[in-house]
Amino acid sequence: MDMVQTEKLIFEYEKRDEEGNVTGTYRAIDQIDLDVKEGQFIAVLGHNGSGKSTLAKHINAILVPTGGTMWVNGKNTREPDELWNVRQSAGMVFQNPDNQIIGTVVEEDVGFGPENLGVPTDEIWQRVEESLKAVGMIEYRHHSPNKLSGGQKQRVAIAGVVAMEPKCIVLDEPTAMLDPAGRKEVLKTVQKLRRNKKVTVILITHYMEEVIDADKIYVMDHGHVVMEGTPREIFARVEELKRYRLDVPQVTLLADTLRKQGLNIPEGILRREELVEALCQLN
Ligand code: ADP
Ligand code: MG
Repeated sequence: MDMVQTEKLIFEYEKRDEEGNVTGTYRAIDQIDLDVKEGQFIAVLGHNGSGKSTLAKHINAILVPTGGTMWVNGKNTREPDELWNVRQSAGMVFQNPDNQIIGTVVEEDVGFGPENLGVPTDEIWQRVEESLKAVGMIEYRHHSPNKLSGGQKQRVAIAGVVAMEPKCIVLDEPTAMLDPAGRKEVLKTVQKLRRNKKVTVILITHYMEEVIDADKIYVMDHGHVVMEGTPREIFARVEELKRYRLDVPQVTLLADTLRKQGLNIPEGILRREELVEALCQLN
């Protein structure tokens, strides 16, 4: 079944002058067609300003299309009567963990979401415990979120979304404000969730290294989807990726350079081990 689907999705922001009068529009999303199936791991890549966050905000109807259509779990996000269903289907994790944590104690913070959904108290506690275990933060349940590292805060934010049991989790550059250790923690958490909870994951990032396990990658530029395919297909197109100002992983670049020098190495190398294997087979 389709979890997230769009047809010629368009979104235009209004431009206003100092008095607040609308002076024009800016098209941040331009005719995007997405097709995300239940349980998939989808990555959206793109340079700053390419429209990724605008797209993400459509998935739980923070924004509604100004043109075209978006369906989440089969519901049209433009229908006011479906808002509740849409929001319950898709949970969001944003860039800055500090803006997402509202509780003074970790477990309380994680419980807010299900509480707002009207989940019975017993079940809330059960969900809080399970979600904190899922992100590896159960031993911090009685701690104050303020004292946690960025990576830990982000894992608590993810637990808060998981506790609402959405079918789909959208993560909008969840690692952008973290140090390398924090980035690794958060990614491992996301991968574990995918394996254990079977949720659909849409990961928005501009770090190519984070998306090599995706089922499908969409690359955005200036509001358009400019590339679409499996990681191997996408990473084989090094020149294009550079044109869209994306950082191609070191190992992919090295493999590409070696191939251009005439070595018989396949396109779309994603991991160090693959390059080593390809090189070993040369002699
Ligand atoms: P990304 O997340 O890929 O960096 P965004 O979706 O945030 O991109 O922004 C896409 C474009 O829309 C950018 O050019 C940005 O300046 C513009 N934009 C974003 N938010 C607003 C807003 N609230 N009002 C007007 N323009 C906006
Ligand atoms: Mg963004």
